[in-house]
Amino acid sequence: MTTVYWFRNDLRLADNPALLAAGNEISPVVLESALDGLPSIRAKSLEAGWAALNESIGGSLRAVTSLIATAIEVGADKVYASRLYSPVGIAEQKAVGLSLKENGIDLILGDGNYAVAPGSVRKADGTPYRVYTPFYRGWLQLGWEAPHPDVEGVRWVEASGRAPIANEIRAGEEFALETLERFLRTRVSGYNEDRNRADLGGTSHLSHALAHGEIHPRTILARLSDSAGEITFAKELAWREFYADVLWHNPHTVTEYYEPRFAKMRYDFDQEKFDAWCAGKTGYPMVDAGMRQLLETGWMHNRVRMIVASFLVKDLHIEWQHGASWFEKHLSDFDVASNVHGWQWTAGCGTDASPYYRIFNPITQGYKFDPNGEYVRKFIPELRHLEDQSVHEPWLLIDGNVHGYPMPIVDHAKEREESLARLEELKSL
Ligand code: FAD
Repeated sequence: MTTVYWFRNDLRLADNPALLAAGNEISPVVLESALDGLPSIRAKSLEAGWAALNESIGGSLRAVTSLIATAIEVGADKVYASRLYSPVGIAEQKAVGLSLKENGIDLILGDGNYAVAPGSVRKADGTPYRVYTPFYRGWLQLGWEAPHPDVEGVRWVEASGRAPIANEIRAGEEFALETLERFLRTRVSGYNEDRNRADLGGTSHLSHALAHGEIHPRTILARLSDSAGEITFAKELAWREFYADVLWHNPHTVTEYYEPRFAKMRYDFDQEKFDAWCAGKTGYPMVDAGMRQLLETGWMHNRVRMIVASFLVKDLHIEWQHGASWFEKHLSDFDVASNVHGWQWTAGCGTDASPYYRIFNPITQGYKFDPNGEYVRKFIPELRHLEDQSVHEPWLLIDGNVHGYPMPIVDHAKEREESLARLEELKSL
């Protein structure tokens, strides 16, 4: 009997237990509504992932508006899909499951996109971890299955609907595997030293593929051995799983403070300053290069994500939720758990948080993680006339700001003191 497979954040054929369970006569669909309200870069990257998947199954993937109508059309009484763990994903699978049920159709959910499912790693007393390092140890100890075999011999049944349309974004399962192999061949041995360098491209760039489920983390973990770089890389994958676990236990933290006392802190909201931050025009080159990288490419280096997040919260005193929403609009690798908890960690109100008083200095971070200034010059054309490290403090040079690059919108040293004063205020509440 034909079943329907609803592809969600699992745009792959390999290591996909839910798809394996769906049998060998499958009508593959995506929901058109997944594009609703998505900003351009995210809509394009999702469509690109759909198009790549469509190609790998001979052109039979269809974007549909109703799973019920598709199931009725192909004569299926079961719809299979991968389980999501985010608050929106959980609400969606619940609502879809209920409406299918009303029409006599079962929704069967399989294992999702984590090596260890959120909610599984627990302390001895059954409570969830609040700190990464012990979570990581528990995660390793619990372990994960070997990758599941690829689906084979499936007859793909084409339903009515729209065929996805490819665009200029490279996406899909094959590209994810190529990206992984290239990283293992050329970058992982230097990962420990290079991963923080914004100018080097020393990270895997697999976040997009992981966010869309074009590769399962198990597939990546199975390719890693125990060299120093590979161990550190596995630890980064564990951060993704940690944050998914934290969000699963604390769904309110999509918008609310993980450490509630920080909600009482004194914050500002200056529209002009926020707009300058969004546009990469704060006058701090490392911050602006990051924000422009985001706008130009839909991705930003992890170290720079921390620098720009710290600047928004601790130099401009704007609440982290504003920054998280901007990232949500512009990151093609957007993942709600990694995003909101990456923000809360940097803002000092999250799990395992860098203590609030540890404030990133956007200038020294530039000297350290972009030592020749190449990253800044790449994304800020107004500073390309400056040599080497001098790009990090253009205001010190006679010709530093002559091509229209703005002067700093705030004084970092002063705002750092202001942040610390606000922390003292909070302590006294
Ligand atoms: P690599 O260094 O190659 O790491 C491999 C994989 O490990 C990544 O693809 C990612 O899945 C995971 N990973 C690495 N670092 C982290 C981390 N700190 N937290 C969680 N997972 C991690 N990541 C997202 O995937 N989506 C987001 O929306 C997102 N928002 C962020 C917001 C802020 C403020 C911060 C500080 C971090 C955010 N991150 C997010 C985490 C991290 O910046 C990206 O995962 C990383 O830059 C992706 O590049 P990469 O694949 O080359 O990483």
